[in-house]
Amino acid sequence: MTKNRSAQGRDQGMTHTFAGGCLDRAAHLRSDAAAIAGLLETDGARFLPYRAASPLVTGGRSPGLGWLSAEDLAVVVVGPSEALFLGLEEGEARFAVPVPETVQEGDLGAGSSSFRGVREVAPLLSVADASVMATGRSLVAWHASHGYCPRCGSASSMIDAGHARRCTDSRCGVVQFPRTDPVVIMLIHRNGSCLLGRAVRSRRYPPGLHSCLAGYVEPGESIEEAVRRETLEEAGLRVGHVRYHSSQPWPFPSTLMIGCFAEALAGRPRIDPAELESVRWFTREELLEAVVRWDEDGALRVPPPLTIAHQLARAWLSEGSGLDTSHP
Ligand SMILES: [Zn+2]
Repeated sequence: MTKNRSAQGRDQGMTHTFAGGCLDRAAHLRSDAAAIAGLLETDGARFLPYRAASPLVTGGRSPGLGWLSAEDLAVVVVGPSEALFLGLEEGEARFAVPVPETVQEGDLGAGSSSFRGVREVAPLLSVADASVMATGRSLVAWHASHGYCPRCGSASSMIDAGHARRCTDSRCGVVQFPRTDPVVIMLIHRNGSCLLGRAVRSRRYPPGLHSCLAGYVEPGESIEEAVRRETLEEAGLRVGHVRYHSSQPWPFPSTLMIGCFAEALAGRPRIDPAELESVRWFTREELLEAVVRWDEDGALRVPPPLTIAHQLARAWLSEGSGLDTSHP
């Protein structure tokens, strides 16, 4: 799985980090216990272990995912019931497997591989590998935090090869599915300038770091309504036209970032101090400088290229400017 990042971007429009996976998810096999058992037994089956939220990653200058055979994994006594089916790669099954936190790389005979944080390793992986890693991380995290039935409190157990959990109390039997939480993230613009904020929670980040406003979509709310509400709540600005741009799965633990451009109506920003430390308008020139020098100190810094905030900024700069700011 080494699909070229830029080639894929041209084929499918903008592909953000953590999207663009090449596995056949083969959802029709998940509920077929015999088929999954058969796939687990094949020599070509491979397993990606996660210790807590960190996957095994190979060493070297061009790291890849640390796929293991069933034989490699046997040493940590992981039963088939704990293997989460990710899909098929050229007909061979791929699984994510949570392993105990006491497991060391040496226990797995994994050579120079190591368990590494998803955020740290994502920029080093191919588009396809980063996507598989994100899928596995979100699934592993969901199972780790959903061990009980939300209706009756009984234990729940994994079904459908890891794509659902069912309450073990036969009188209840509630089935839960892995959740994905929608978050709107918007580049607010007006008269050729854009509005970026510095969140209160980002105080530990570098000075000057500003980003797009963002927030969870609430029940009973459309994407456009969420953009307008969040912008008004956080920055005190009313928004007119909202335009969807692209989306990004964000596996921390499991959100879908919905990227939009939103045109602010007249008015001055007025921050919610509980959410934002500051907010201000930046010119195209200031934003271009910040995007190009995103990893350098400056009056304005933007988040790194793996984030949709960075890519929204690039896309906004490129619109109508003739600049080539395509996904790196
Ligand atoms: Zn129940």
